Amino acid sequence: SDIDRYFDALIRDIPDFPKPGVLFKDITPLLADHDAFTATVQALAAAGRDESGATVVDKVIGMEARGFILAAPVALALGVGFVPVRKAGKLPSATYAVSYELEYAQATLEMHTDALEAGDRVLLVDDVLATGGTAAATQKLVGYAGATVQALAVLMELSFLHGREVLGQTPLLALRTL
Ligand code: 5GP
Repeated sequence: SDIDRYFDALIRDIPDFPKPGVLFKDITPLLADHDAFTATVQALAAAGRDESGATVVDKVIGMEARGFILAAPVALALGVGFVPVRKAGKLPSATYAVSYELEYAQATLEMHTDALEAGDRVLLVDDVLATGGTAAATQKLVGYAGATVQALAVLMELSFLHGREVLGQTPLLALRTL
């Protein structure tokens, strides 16, 4: 497919970034290519539509930072608003917060308490699903607001890190599984 060709040509492997032993998937060449970026956004947006093409979500959430770049155009493609989930201390108004374990540290994600309404159906968008810690924390934030996660859409799933298993029943759209 077009997506496969774009991913092969425009996502590059960077060894030992951000630390030794990690093979980092760099999506910046894909973002710089208008046709590839457009096709990628359209493919992700499918996770927020039903079979007839109707939008079935009320908001799209992007997780800092690469999730922002993808989620904002997905929200526009679906005709709904965008909500940022950010690292601790970045959002200016009242927030919900969830802390989770990283390999050698803790991380905290926040979302404005008034960003979602109870009952909202939300599409989560990020570039990579790795351990699933980011997605699971974001699911909790959505739950605190009384809203529900319709699906998670990512460019790449690193299946050897088993992130899918921490998502529970949430449907996952991964444009590529590694
Ligand atoms: P998780 O919380 O699932 O372990 O990690 C996912 C987060 O780490 C995502 O927000 C993603 O942006 C980032 N991430 C982890 N590995 C990679 C990678 O190889 N490439 C990119 N672009 N992001 C990664």
